[in-house]
Amino acid sequence: MVVLPMTDFSFTAVLKKIQKSDVAIALPRRSDIRLAILFFASALIACIWVVTLYDEASETQRELEKVGRDAQNVARAFDENISHVIEQADEASDLLKYQYERFGAKMNNPEYRDAWLMQGNLANRFFILDEHGKQVYANDDIVLNDELIAGHMQLHRGHDSGQLLFLVKPVRDRVSGDWSMQASRRLNRPDGSFSGVVGVSISNEAVTRFYHQINVGQGGAISVVGDEGTIKAREPDGAKAIGMDFSGRPSFAVMKQHKQGYLTSNGVVDGKRRTYAYRHLENYPLMVLVGISVEEAMQPFYNNRFRGYVLAAFSTGVVVVFTVFILFMANGLVSTGRVATLANQAKSQFLANMSHELRTPLNGILGYAELLREDLVGTDEQHFAQAIHDSGTHLLLLVNTVLDLERIAAGKMEVFIATENLREVMQKIVASHASTAMRKGIALRLVLSPALPVEFACDRGKLIRVLNNLIHNALKYTDQGAVTVRVLQGDGVLIFRVVDTGEGIPAELQRIIFEKFAQVDGSDMRAQAGSGLGLALAKELVKFMGGTIAVRSRVGKGSIFAFTLPI
Ligand code: ADP
Repeated sequence: MVVLPMTDFSFTAVLKKIQKSDVAIALPRRSDIRLAILFFASALIACIWVVTLYDEASETQRELEKVGRDAQNVARAFDENISHVIEQADEASDLLKYQYERFGAKMNNPEYRDAWLMQGNLANRFFILDEHGKQVYANDDIVLNDELIAGHMQLHRGHDSGQLLFLVKPVRDRVSGDWSMQASRRLNRPDGSFSGVVGVSISNEAVTRFYHQINVGQGGAISVVGDEGTIKAREPDGAKAIGMDFSGRPSFAVMKQHKQGYLTSNGVVDGKRRTYAYRHLENYPLMVLVGISVEEAMQPFYNNRFRGYVLAAFSTGVVVVFTVFILFMANGLVSTGRVATLANQAKSQFLANMSHELRTPLNGILGYAELLREDLVGTDEQHFAQAIHDSGTHLLLLVNTVLDLERIAAGKMEVFIATENLREVMQKIVASHASTAMRKGIALRLVLSPALPVEFACDRGKLIRVLNNLIHNALKYTDQGAVTVRVLQGDGVLIFRVVDTGEGIPAELQRIIFEKFAQVDGSDMRAQAGSGLGLALAKELVKFMGGTIAVRSRVGKGSIFAFTLPI
């Protein structure tokens, strides 16, 4: 008695073995999905903050521009106001010049003074100096010091510009303590020679008045600055600021370059950060400056900005919570996936083991069946032995097919390329099916195109398996007519065709017959037995050899299976 070796190939045993072994560790890292989720969440959070910060930066910019525009509007009004005040002083000084040149010392008469006071700007004070710098007229009790007199004389003695000229330094009144801008115009005798100056002292009060009309906030400031960089009037803190020179500051350099504009810098007087709008007066060497405190103006915006940050932080929190939740779910999925992969591996291993183990007893059965068949030649029992042998052969083919498919799936299939005589190989393959064809009364033909190479390199074993499969099917599913095997040469390939005149395959099923276990008639009652693995293996083998396989068929007319192999 022959004892066949059996090993433990039960499914659970294989699964346990795989779980214990390195195989499990070598599984593909599906957990990458969690990395992807983490990456996505981080990207989302980064996006939220980039958008928030970008938004905030551009909003800040817009807000600063708005502050600049506001300051510019005030500066325009301030310009008009100051220009008007100076124009008045200018006109008055012109009138005074005209009067003095006509009436001379008579102007000091009280009537004249009163008449003058009626039309002059009370805030401004006027005075006249003769050609020696002696004060000959004043509409007030103004007493000029020597330095001031020398300054005015120096401005005009040399030549007549015809214009109202400003002294660089503003002057503080010794009695009232008020600051004023000093401007004067040259007086001429009828012959054009120098006869003195008419001066005007423009009080800081004009600026103070304007300051109270407008609203530049608590930290705001307005000032009049000479083109040379000296502050001539300012509100607030006039007393502290007037006379200060900021010509050395970079901000002043910018202001000098443009007729008007705005910039942000720290104030010279109090160091406070402000947006300064500046405008150069059209007809006088002065510019007006309106400064708005950045901190104060931006405060409402900063409050809003805080809200934006809170929103971004809240969104970040929501993303984090969702990510944790999704990660938790993904964890579950990943472990389920791992178990599924393990189970799939176990199944493959199990199938391979089982197929392998089946082959040994099958070969035993086939051997004995063959012996029996020979022993029983000429007896009635001979066909029993033949039936055992046929069934065994069929089973062995099936087991080999399963083994091959698993080998390919596991990447363990090997290739054996050798130079073969094409005609000889084809004739042998077709001849092996001749008896089946004859039994069914079907013509079996081999047609080799004349241009074929005599020899070609191929994996003979695999080519035989593919062609056997196709010819076997063609004969199986054909009841009358012919099966033709054709070989022709294509572009860099050999084309093998198996053409039959059988039952054909419905169009919708042609797509799936190359899938494992696919059969046109899935019922248990189908006319032809089969595993549905033959074409799946044929496709895998052709692919393995670098070719492609396809089918064309019409129900009732027949089928053409064709595959290519590279030459
Ligand atoms: P099986 O072992 O069932 O023949 P195959 O994978 O070889 O498995 O074929 C899959 C199915 O394709 C078959 O069940 C059959 O219905 C159909 N088929 C294959 N070849 C032909 C053919 N030449 N003519 C008609 N039907 C075919």
